Amino acid sequence: MATRTCVKLLILLLLPGYLAAQDSSGSHSPAKGESDIGLRYKENISLEWEECIGLYRRMADSSDRARLIEIGYSDAGKPLHLFIISADGCFEPEDLRESGKNILFINNGIHPGESCGIDASVKLAYGLLSGRDEYAEFLSRTTILILPVFNIGGALKRSPYHRANQNGPREHGFRGNARNLDLNRDFMKMDAANTRALVPLLRKWDPDVFIDTHTSNGADYPYTITLINSHEQRHESASAHFLRQEMLPFLYAAMTKTPYEMSPYVWSIKTTPEDGLIGFMDYPRYTSGYTSMFNCLSLTVETHMFKPYPDRVLSTWHLLRESLHFMATHSDELKAQKAKAWKQKRRRRQFVLEWKPDTLRCDSLLFKGYAARYRKSKLTGHQRLYYDRSEPWEKKIPYYRYYIPTISCSLPEAYLIPPAWPEVIERLRLNGVEMQPLDRDTILRAEYYYIEDFHTASPSYNGHYPHSSTRVRKESGPVECMAGSILVPTKQKAVEYIVQALEPQAHDSFFNWNFFDEILYRNEYFSPYIFEETAEALLREDPRLNAAFRKKKAEDAAFAADPYSQLRFIYESSPWSEDSYMRYPVIRIPAR
Ligand SMILES: [Zn+2]
Repeated sequence: MATRTCVKLLILLLLPGYLAAQDSSGSHSPAKGESDIGLRYKENISLEWEECIGLYRRMADSSDRARLIEIGYSDAGKPLHLFIISADGCFEPEDLRESGKNILFINNGIHPGESCGIDASVKLAYGLLSGRDEYAEFLSRTTILILPVFNIGGALKRSPYHRANQNGPREHGFRGNARNLDLNRDFMKMDAANTRALVPLLRKWDPDVFIDTHTSNGADYPYTITLINSHEQRHESASAHFLRQEMLPFLYAAMTKTPYEMSPYVWSIKTTPEDGLIGFMDYPRYTSGYTSMFNCLSLTVETHMFKPYPDRVLSTWHLLRESLHFMATHSDELKAQKAKAWKQKRRRRQFVLEWKPDTLRCDSLLFKGYAARYRKSKLTGHQRLYYDRSEPWEKKIPYYRYYIPTISCSLPEAYLIPPAWPEVIERLRLNGVEMQPLDRDTILRAEYYYIEDFHTASPSYNGHYPHSSTRVRKESGPVECMAGSILVPTKQKAVEYIVQALEPQAHDSFFNWNFFDEILYRNEYFSPYIFEETAEALLREDPRLNAAFRKKKAEDAAFAADPYSQLRFIYESSPWSEDSYMRYPVIRIPAR
């Protein structure tokens, strides 16, 4: 734990240079305007990656309150940057936390075609550092971290043609990264170098509020900006209550005082918003779902694709500012709810692994929409949907924001991962999970799973053939554990992450992301013509197996008609059947 205290800079004046140019007479000339520094969103042009980093570099060079650091490499082979704005010139997370600062993390360009946040964050940083923005006073309570462009590979692949339905900017980046991965599905599997660089940084800084900036597809409606918040039910009750009662009402009210009234994210339960919206369940694969496992309040900003680019940038900028405003004016409450949430997480003994929307329970949401109409398509001859902007409406619609837990698990004392799964162990390490290796072979009393059922997606999805609807059978007994196996105690901060990663039935578990597919394959087989006599002997010696075999043969016509299936049935119940088949290798050491 660092005990070094921050050197507080008494003089917070900006250095001469970029942000407040000093003329030859020594007097300060006014800071440059936005267009002078290269922001051109008002002309429907978004910043290119090199330009954007150049702007941050110059801001950092000109101010003691800002720093630009490299945090690792992206799949494109280019360095990822982080821009830090800290009013007292302190740039160490431990020191900042000790001094009572809260941390706001803004992530941009995870989908670089949705570039509003890239431009809005430069505008925000420039306004705060140049003293043009009166919200600069809020920096006394909050440190801001800006990731300028997360998906650099996608940002470099600029074109006017990546976003078919989007109204500007003139050129924009591509959704996939240099490996064609959608990075906003990557936060559990961590395939991308980008993600493997960002995750340890998030654990190091442990932000209080995380914002990811996007542009949406979908229905037409008047709002320029919509918001997904990390799902309240995935939070501890202290955070859920704070989000619901304090933070969200503040942000929605604050945005009504800007030109950009904000709506919850528009995800229609049927085809159009009129029938109601569903609250988005942000599973851990998403940035907001990932960060919320660590008691961080997370927001995903979605501006509306049809609105002019300058408005989308400005609405994002307002939301970023108002988030800073909220954090500064609720600084103590923010800290208190987080401390309480950690206490609650430490006491938690049950974890939800899977959810489904509760379509019988809803709130009422006052929503502004456009009339949805249908007309015959000249192209296809079929009915096509259109929204009639000449017929706006405002009314209450159902808002299905609640979910029902469908699978839960108890918390074990620890998990144990055999050394044969280094990819899994490496991901836990990057997430700051405390682990210790077994120093000798040993036998432990443990719980272990057999995979009973699962569904596999096809075609591939983000470099995987992920499983879903996974079902397991739990057994317990003595398990031989090899030296070098990794013990993962659950009494630690990352407990929620550990459970969601290692419980095979969890929505975004490593099992579901194909990290354990080896166990789904049989290595050993039998030759039917030789096994026949052995099978007969087995049935003679085992009356229960014999009874089960005869019952299945009598009830299952396909089975009765297939000699190989019958022999396999007996083989799979025999001592020759391999016990590693379908056996999930991570074991649970039960709580005492
Ligand atoms: Zn997006």
